[in-house]
Amino acid sequence: MTEAARVPAAFLGHGNPMNALDHNRYTEAWRALGESVGRPAGVLSISAHWYTNATAVTSMAQPRTIHDFYGFPDELFAVDYPAPGDSALAGKVVDMLEPTWVGQDSDSWGIDHGTWSVLVHVFPDADIPVVQLSINATKPFDYHLDLGRRLAPLRDEGILIVGSGNVVHNLRRVDWNQPDGSFDWARRFNETVTEVMTSAPGDILSVVDDADYPLAVPTPDHFIPLLYIAGLADAAEQKTRVLIDGYTMGSLSMTCFALGRNEIGLSGTGEAPPLPHVPADESNL
Ligand code: ZN
Repeated sequence: MTEAARVPAAFLGHGNPMNALDHNRYTEAWRALGESVGRPAGVLSISAHWYTNATAVTSMAQPRTIHDFYGFPDELFAVDYPAPGDSALAGKVVDMLEPTWVGQDSDSWGIDHGTWSVLVHVFPDADIPVVQLSINATKPFDYHLDLGRRLAPLRDEGILIVGSGNVVHNLRRVDWNQPDGSFDWARRFNETVTEVMTSAPGDILSVVDDADYPLAVPTPDHFIPLLYIAGLADAAEQKTRVLIDGYTMGSLSMTCFALGRNEIGLSGTGEAPPLPHVPADESNL
């Protein structure tokens, strides 16, 4: 399998669920990613919002769209993302992660907003099969990094692996007065993570010792999806590139990392030219 044929992978900072309906520089970056990837055989998504006490994959033929939030406009609850499931892909994930036990979920979960709020932009036609892998909240970080490494062969089988979370995600510190701003600690931690992801993703767990980690990652749910992409990068001996970065409401970073080639210059080496820049003032998150 040549690198050119290997499907990219990406960590997407999803932020506010309203991004599903919005058009801003982040959603433009997600759309550009989808256009550059073309038509993968399927999507395996690790979403911050399927944070549970087991490792499981969705295996139903038609996963439901889950509106796992409250307090948002009816318009957001009306969003449907009718992508099919893929039981064969689910089965493959179960087999390839042995001896780690992975449950097959045929009737419980579906496609949560961590996945659909970005995929409505990446693949707006919702015609690429989607399988979600849960985050097992009972496991240490190195478990997730290791699973990411072991999922790497899927990239050679046409599968786009997406981690959806946020590098910095502290909802208790949200400041509505700085829609595109960041607290110093948020920026510092995001830059530390970016440095590791673009130089040595396999060392990602070192950021846990950073002085800003406790404020940036008060709960691990939105951080763990990043570990899967770091694991994929490590397995391929590649670095990730910043697809787009930025901040919202002071205490969230929207940074997205891409791994692997594509037509918009994602080389995975950290040395390719930057993506077309979209001015920050076009963001209306
Ligand atoms: Zn979220």
